[in-house]
Amino acid sequence: MPGHSPRRSLVAANWKMNGRSAENRAWLEEFGRAGDACETVVCPPLVYLAQMAQGLRDSGIGVGAQNVSERTAGAWTGEVSAEMLVDSGADWVIVGHSERRANFGETDEIVAAKAARAIEAGLKPIVCVGETLEQREQGMTASVVARQLDALLQRCPVEQLCTAAIAYEPIWAIGTGRTATPSLAQEVHAAIRAQLAAKDSNSAEQVRILYGGSVKPANAAELFRQPDIDGGLIGGASLIAADFRTICAAAE
Ligand code: PEP
Repeated sequence: MPGHSPRRSLVAANWKMNGRSAENRAWLEEFGRAGDACETVVCPPLVYLAQMAQGLRDSGIGVGAQNVSERTAGAWTGEVSAEMLVDSGADWVIVGHSERRANFGETDEIVAAKAARAIEAGLKPIVCVGETLEQREQGMTASVVARQLDALLQRCPVEQLCTAAIAYEPIWAIGTGRTATPSLAQEVHAAIRAQLAAKDSNSAEQVRILYGGSVKPANAAELFRQPDIDGGLIGGASLIAADFRTICAAAE
């Protein structure tokens, strides 16, 4: 448990492009209600947002989208605005996931603009940062994460991030079964918090910093025990309701 911290643990499921209405119903039934100690969020594909928002209404679990447009409205075919997400029942949105940065050309500035738009519309963003394997091997982890976070802080003052979350997701650990060791992750989490604290230390103490990258029932507790790891962003393991439950329990 992220123990002595003033922060309530947060565990978010990133379903990516997985799920079908019937499977989602079965997941809802199997997962049941959230525990009180850990805030829980499920981010299904956009078309299932309303289904999940409805299904989770009395469960204590929040709903999030996996992306949002940085624009407000208009001729942006295929895009979905932050206000539309709120209208469909979303409370949260994942912003700047490495798969979007790498495959959809999302720069640090675009990610920051998306986070700002989300906050403006009343959504809580989970802003993802993290380095590639090559960057880690070249000793660039700290500078890459600091650059990504700096772009965010240029658009969103740290006070606005108190109800949001930052997710540290080393790209080499996502979907690979290769997890950062708890101490290695803690080191980056502490650096993120220090960078936030340089702007405002009270706010920095409130921001939840999640770890993401092959979190499983077997390794969750040890990761969440680190003082600056306040929960997780869970991909593959969140598709199995029982595994996601175990991971949430590890954060309590
Ligand atoms: C993710 O995609 O955010 C993620 C952490 O995936 P996985 O848990 O499958 O590594």
